[in-house]
Amino acid sequence: MTKHPGPGPKELRGIGVSPGIIIGKAHLVDRSKAKVQYQYIINDAHINREVRRFKEALTITEEQLTTLKNSMPDHVKELAVILDSHRLILKDTMLNDATVQKILDEKINAEWALMRSLQEIRQIFEQIDDKYISGRINDVENVADRILRNLSGKKQQHLAEITERVIIVAHDLSPGDTTELNVSRVMGFITDIGGRTSHTGILAHALQIPAVVGLETVTDMVKEGDLLIVDGNAGEVVVNPEDNDIITYQEKQLEHEAYTSSIARTGHLPAVTIDGHKIAIFANMEFLEEVTAVKEHGGEGIGLYRTEFLYLRSKGLPSEDDLFEDYRQVAEIIAPNPVTIRSLDLGGDKIPTTLEMSKEINPALGLRAIRFCLKEPHILKTQFRAILRASIYGQIQVMLPMVSGLQEILDAKRILEQAKKELDQEKIDFNHDIKVGIMIEVPSAVTMADILARHVDFFSIGTNDLIQYALAIDRNNEHVAYMAQPFHPAILKMIQQVVVAAKDAGIAVSLCGEMAGDPLCTPFLLGLGLENLSMNARAIPLIKNVVRSITLQEACDDFKNVMKLHTEKAVRTYALERSKNYLP
Ligand code: PEP
Ligand code: MG
Repeated sequence: MTKHPGPGPKELRGIGVSPGIIIGKAHLVDRSKAKVQYQYIINDAHINREVRRFKEALTITEEQLTTLKNSMPDHVKELAVILDSHRLILKDTMLNDATVQKILDEKINAEWALMRSLQEIRQIFEQIDDKYISGRINDVENVADRILRNLSGKKQQHLAEITERVIIVAHDLSPGDTTELNVSRVMGFITDIGGRTSHTGILAHALQIPAVVGLETVTDMVKEGDLLIVDGNAGEVVVNPEDNDIITYQEKQLEHEAYTSSIARTGHLPAVTIDGHKIAIFANMEFLEEVTAVKEHGGEGIGLYRTEFLYLRSKGLPSEDDLFEDYRQVAEIIAPNPVTIRSLDLGGDKIPTTLEMSKEINPALGLRAIRFCLKEPHILKTQFRAILRASIYGQIQVMLPMVSGLQEILDAKRILEQAKKELDQEKIDFNHDIKVGIMIEVPSAVTMADILARHVDFFSIGTNDLIQYALAIDRNNEHVAYMAQPFHPAILKMIQQVVVAAKDAGIAVSLCGEMAGDPLCTPFLLGLGLENLSMNARAIPLIKNVVRSITLQEACDDFKNVMKLHTEKAVRTYALERSKNYLP
């Protein structure tokens, strides 16, 4: 599609991460950091104005912090100390007086002076060895950001407050932002940045909100109130469409709805290939509220419960009882089918605002998932206790994310044993033989799969991260999103290696990345030996239908054929050609 500058409709292409076609009004949400520009102030009279502006911004910031503290719900009142510490930072001479001094001495604008003070404070913090104290720089940055916003007069809008039927247009939305969306109101969203398997996209899919990401400059092209067509299937956006565009997309919308509802009616049928091989189809989920959708779409259990959203949604750490209650309900509703509860996978693009996690330059390679949990073992143990307590209410198994080697499994299992011992001492009942598995999503775990398989009960292959780490592409980065393709021969070979290692060791293996719900991949996955797939609930009816339309023999031949192809493009072309036999 081409971009048309100037008036008239503009057609943009991005990455469709959540299907569905919507037509509605744009609502711009500013999630960018306040931009700071250097200004030299020539006129002496203006210097005093600059000092006054800075002091007024401090006063407004203090008032905001007080209002925030007073409006905190009772159960998170203990977190008010964070806001108190922010108020103290406001009064700190290194931030406050030093900035005023810089405005006066260097004749610069308040924003630039504040950034300079912040830079000096950062340098001091960097010299502190104590990780806890040096980590407090995040609080200082947070306060400085708030002052900057007040200097610029910008307000950060809470997405939960949006009550109109609008399409959100933002530079970026975090997974936390997405969980705040009022899904009965917000029709969909489009963003400048993001990739196919970003967690924001996965959440949009789960919440059934059509979304297109990676549009690069959409926030510059769209004005508040513009009419938009968003096609989450094709990754297309039309800004201020003409009448015939609207008619075309309305027709596509009707076709899409007719197709999905005809497929949905067959969701409860088992996924058995024409030559009689049964494939187990499970669902991925993020919130308790999704369990019923899993059942409605024909999921035979939950292959991946991403538990971190409970932590992102709550103001502070959820208690053991909160977690237990959530897991118990999921297990009970889905019983007698199983549920695989993944231990906390925070970090990367999932940063809760209330937890002490330092900002990292390279978060995808940083203190994420099992690494974070092993550094904060009390958080992991609380979660394990909750999972164990819930384990008598259904078929629960536990899974560790982002394992890179054996030591992490041994360390996590030691914490699990401690949790079991405590519960035994407290005479609390649980399933002593709970199964423990790992996600295979780091290339080192693929290489070690034969060894790791001796220490766990099952593997689940997380291709979203495996593609990111094996092909060295940030899964949230729109500039390399074109490379985030499951058809890369290296990825197919890695998956096969893991499946072989699991089968040799006699343990179960499944695949739970977005690839599992991509109908173009289904023949390859079956052909390389997978018999268990876990996917977004909405993809289940379609994938079951694909399985019922092919034979395992054909799938094995397909896999053999693509293993002779050496580029991602060649494999994709093969997949597209092949899909003409089983997709409309
Ligand atoms: C994966 O990485 O493939 C996966 C399923 O986990 P997540 O998307 O939550 O990182
Ligand atoms: Mg992952």
